Amino acid sequence: MIDLLFSSDPKQALRMYRHLAAMLFSLMFTLVSISFFHNNLYSIRPVTFYAIIVFFWTGGFLFTVVLRTGFNKRFSDPSLTVPQILWCTLFLLTVIYLLNEWRGLMLMAFFGVFSFGYFRLRLNELLYVALFAIFGYAFIIGYMFTNESDRIEIKFEFIQWMIFSITITVMLYTGSAIQELRERAKKQYMELQDALQLNKTLAITDELTGLYNRRYFMDMLAKQKALSERDGSDFVICCCDLDHFKHINNTFGHHAGDAVLQQFTKILKSILREIDYVARFSGEEFVCLLVNSDIDNALKVAERIRVVLSNYNFSDIAPSLHTSVSIGLANFKQFNTIQETLMSADNRMYRAKELGRNRVVSSDEETA
Ligand code: GH3
Ligand code: MG
Ligand code: MG
Repeated sequence: MIDLLFSSDPKQALRMYRHLAAMLFSLMFTLVSISFFHNNLYSIRPVTFYAIIVFFWTGGFLFTVVLRTGFNKRFSDPSLTVPQILWCTLFLLTVIYLLNEWRGLMLMAFFGVFSFGYFRLRLNELLYVALFAIFGYAFIIGYMFTNESDRIEIKFEFIQWMIFSITITVMLYTGSAIQELRERAKKQYMELQDALQLNKTLAITDELTGLYNRRYFMDMLAKQKALSERDGSDFVICCCDLDHFKHINNTFGHHAGDAVLQQFTKILKSILREIDYVARFSGEEFVCLLVNSDIDNALKVAERIRVVLSNYNFSDIAPSLHTSVSIGLANFKQFNTIQETLMSADNRMYRAKELGRNRVVSSDEETA
């Protein structure tokens, strides 16, 4: 039954929940109207009275169907709050017209209807609803005064209408303050979300290169380890350390060094696949995670990185600037723990330095 009424889409479910609350309210109102009828407060035939009740309830159920089938999503406000309020108000005004007395009492029910939109609707929407009720009621008393004057006491009705209209106007005023509050809260919420997002990004990003930082990379490694253990895939860790970087800083300045780091980042990104991860671990040390890769494949990728960097023309930074990178590779399957794999890749990178730099070392046996 619950599945039948409520969509699995939480927004749609909420809309249905609100609609059912309104239907419950309509039910109570209908029961009161029926009891009035049986207390002879109307002078119409039972068949007419019940036909009216059925007519409005059919409209109510039509809203249920529209909301459940998702047809409501085609409208600019899919909650259909305004049409539902207008429909209920029309029901209310009809009953008010049919009543011979106690019309003012029934008028109070409008505030119940109004409250369904009070905290949600925009001010202009609330205004339409309010005007519909005010002019609807004015129309009823005007019509009765001209055509069925024996059924109303115009002075009394006019005072009632005035009080009704003033109360709604006051509610509109307070409604506008609520709306302002709501908009401010919404704006603050959006700003908070943006700040949170920025915070999240900063927490995982290296400022100079925009690459991931060590902390995030270690998280990714842990996830990749779990994935590899589950599906038997392998991955390779690739430690890259720029050669004689201190010399670049000393000769061309720190800014030039920064620019080299940024350019190397671009080279890494252009060679690695979307699914791989790369992080700046410290100063001029970068670590890549080559997903679903064996050591032979990683060796080709690392060689490409090495060759591209050593041939790269940094003349836009400084005419004689050249640099190279030493790279160490280790695959997860060989070691089966992250720390060991990482340490091995690091050791092999240092071995590449010992062997003369500007080279890739992918095993412990490598010699000059
Ligand atoms: P090796 O070939 O042995 O790796 O020598 P190296 O000079 O590259 O290595 P070393 O670790 O001695 O020096 C790294 C230098 O990187 C030292 C430090 O000043 C510099 N560095 C660290 N972070 C940054 C940075 O963000 N920007 C710049 N421009 N330089 C940095
Ligand atoms: Mg270095
Ligand atoms: Mg270093």
